[in-house]
Amino acid sequence: MKADVTVIGAGIIGVQSAVQLAERGLKVVVVDPGPAGGQQAASFGNAAWLSSHSVTPPATPGVWKQVPKWLRDPLGPLAVRPAYLPKVLPWLLRYLAAGSTEAKLRRTAAELRTLLIDAPRLHADVAARAGVPDLIDANSGLMQAYRTRAAYEADAMGWRIRRDLGIECQEIEAEELARRQPDLSRDYGFAVFTPEAGQCRDPGAYCAALLDYAVTLGARHIAARATGFRAEGGKLAAVVTTQGEIECTAAVIASGARSADLARLAGDKVPLESERGYHVTVEGGSNLPGPTTSVMIADRKVVITRLATGVRCAGQVEIAGVDAEPDWRRAEIMRTHLAGAFPGLDVTDAQVWMGHRPSTPDGKPVIAKARGVKGVVHCFGHGHVGLVGSARSGRLVAQLVTGEAPEIDLTPFAATRF
Ligand SMILES: Cc1cc2nc3c(=O)[nH]c(=O)nc-3n(C[C@H](O)[C@H](O)[C@H](O)COP(=O)(O)OP(=O)(O)OC[C@H]3O[C@@H](n4cnc5c(N)ncnc54)[C@H](O)[C@@H]3O)c2cc1C
Repeated sequence: MKADVTVIGAGIIGVQSAVQLAERGLKVVVVDPGPAGGQQAASFGNAAWLSSHSVTPPATPGVWKQVPKWLRDPLGPLAVRPAYLPKVLPWLLRYLAAGSTEAKLRRTAAELRTLLIDAPRLHADVAARAGVPDLIDANSGLMQAYRTRAAYEADAMGWRIRRDLGIECQEIEAEELARRQPDLSRDYGFAVFTPEAGQCRDPGAYCAALLDYAVTLGARHIAARATGFRAEGGKLAAVVTTQGEIECTAAVIASGARSADLARLAGDKVPLESERGYHVTVEGGSNLPGPTTSVMIADRKVVITRLATGVRCAGQVEIAGVDAEPDWRRAEIMRTHLAGAFPGLDVTDAQVWMGHRPSTPDGKPVIAKARGVKGVVHCFGHGHVGLVGSARSGRLVAQLVTGEAPEIDLTPFAATRF
């Protein structure tokens, strides 16, 4: 089989890339053993936030003091499986270092902001072109709820950094919060509302719709796993897959948490880990009790979102590698959090899911040309911001493949930074 570009992975990063490449008239093949945005992909089960304000890396100053707790409590909001510690230790140390000072957080925030700014509008534009405008609500805003103003003030650094980047963050007192989120437990008496942010209405369906759109522009999806590259004179000649070779001169590594091996074959060693996350979704229509605006419940460290298909509670970070079985006790915890935040919602029959955030230690993706094989482009490692960051990432991939000038400075996203 022949193509101009092979996109490896049909998560949100792969399909956004495929759309941008197909819109430029290139012949695109997307390889993924699973369906676009299927349950195997992080892009299926995320919290649906188009949070252009999610600019700080996950680790924060002083968080290293909690490492013993992460190892001791397998069901805490962040847990590291002790047996996996020796393997993950180098990554974990870099992860902690990336958030060790406010200055580092500020630098990362300024860099990530270039990728995420305007994301809700970019998503709305691509969804409209794909014929699914209803899947993106670019104007919903997003909320973070605290029990008290004091709890918010203890969490002030992140909000200060956001405000200094020009992001509007509105403070909402108890009475107003109760008016705006009538189903939210009254245990929560303070919130911050970020009007610039938006949400997706169904992340899995959005991926599928974007791939369908790329197909109408001539793209093809092959159910196969990419295993490597064939190069001639240092230039890409083919992507090798479990269904044979795809001859092409360009390829995009967008295989989420499983991208590191392919990246190494293309000449770059990138520290990439899975920050495993879970969700529970109560299926149903708009009459289900739940959030009016998607809300992060600060003390429970979960996001609760009303989707087209029901109400979803997503979150948690479990570091145990990509191959370990899910720990479904975590889903039970999510159920408890959902019922605790929205007591009117019956969570008995909630669907459960686990997926892999593809995470670099510094919370920034790798968006760069590969060094070892000319023609290969990396686009992976989006961690907690892959959905929101995917729209501009797809544009950047197309710019790198076609030789257009990238619309933002890609230095902070280089594969060589590690
Ligand atoms: C609980 C949870 C909540 C989240 N909430 C949000 C949120 O609200 N907002 C946000 O922006 N982000 C959120 N994220 C993060 C976001 O979901 C991810 O960053 C994003 O989905 C990553 O997309 P991806 O395309 O890189 O990877 P994936 O979606 O994982 O897709 C990778 C694809 O590559 C395929 N693949 C793997 N290896 C190969 C191979 N060798 N050959 C071919 N195909 C291969 C896989 O089958 C898969 O389909 C959340 C994540 C989790 C887990």
